Amino acid sequence: MNIIVLKFGGSSVANNESLKIVADKIINLYEKGNDIVVILSAQGKTTDKLINEAKELSKCAENRELDALLSAGEQISAAKLSILLNDLGYNAISLTGWQAGIYTNNTNQNAIIKQIDTERIIHELKLKKIVIIAGFQGINENMDITTLGRGGSDTTAVAIAAALKAKDCYIFSDVDGVYTTDPKKIQEAKKIPALSYEEMLEISNEGAKVLHNRCVEIGEKFKIPIITKSTFNNKPGTIISDIIEENTVKSIVKKDLSRIAIVGNGIIRNIDKVKEILNIISENKLEILEFNVSENKISILFKNIVDDEILEKIHSII
Ligand code: ADP
Ligand code: ASP
Ligand code: MG
Repeated sequence: MNIIVLKFGGSSVANNESLKIVADKIINLYEKGNDIVVILSAQGKTTDKLINEAKELSKCAENRELDALLSAGEQISAAKLSILLNDLGYNAISLTGWQAGIYTNNTNQNAIIKQIDTERIIHELKLKKIVIIAGFQGINENMDITTLGRGGSDTTAVAIAAALKAKDCYIFSDVDGVYTTDPKKIQEAKKIPALSYEEMLEISNEGAKVLHNRCVEIGEKFKIPIITKSTFNNKPGTIISDIIEENTVKSIVKKDLSRIAIVGNGIIRNIDKVKEILNIISENKLEILEFNVSENKISILFKNIVDDEILEKIHSII
């Protein structure tokens, strides 16, 4: 089989217009003879909205019930896309996490995928159907619905790609790749064509939500290259794989008000860049509370709030 996994995030499926763009992309790849498995997030801000609605009802909603509620968001988008593809004359089927055979541990709201039974997916693919799976969810040993933590549809996608030994795993979003810093905050951010799993993991762990951290771990473990691209243009994206490029600073992440992380393989040996970063810190009279250095990351906690201007200055030297 020639399986391709495509994941579309919330902003890519926010309304009927964007669902049509997604459908076009899928049809294009299907017509080229690929077996297509699609993973979807909930539409737009649906998950936030459902969380707020639950909070209005109770300050202590049980995690099991929250999972039952939140998982509905992904089921709606999966069913809608399937309805649209069917209407366009394509054979598609939507599956919930449990119908797709995604088994997790019992940690509601932050479950870990334990196993994927691919029988149903393969069966539908053999019938030449486009298989659309609700992301972010699975089922535990008690047959209760679980969710994988915020942003977890990325993890569904890479785990499904690994289980199916897919040819490619594309993560489509509202940005056309992983940037040197959040492009919505810093205009000068540059796209990074390639990153190693280790670098991407550091970036995700520091809170850049562009990829869920567990999807990167799974990609690394099962050697699945992850390609991030935009739903809304055809520009080349970022490929995350086990190819390591040494000694380049790749990305800056601002985790919270006073912590930044600078990520890049072998960053510790890139003395010139480290010096420049330290100069900016002293010029701006920032007081350092904590300074952690590892092979791939420098993480600095400041006493002061680091505003985006300083982030921009540090960013400019990479
Ligand atoms: P999706 O809904 O498609 O899953 P997310 O909102 O979870 O998308 O992730 C994409 C967002 O991640 C972008 O809109 C961007 O603002 C943010 N982001 C943060 N850091 C980065 C980065 N280094 N590169 C690209 N995007 C980033
Ligand atoms: N819908 C979930 C969230 O907003 C999962 C995801 O989008 O990946 O966190
Ligand atoms: Mg996301």
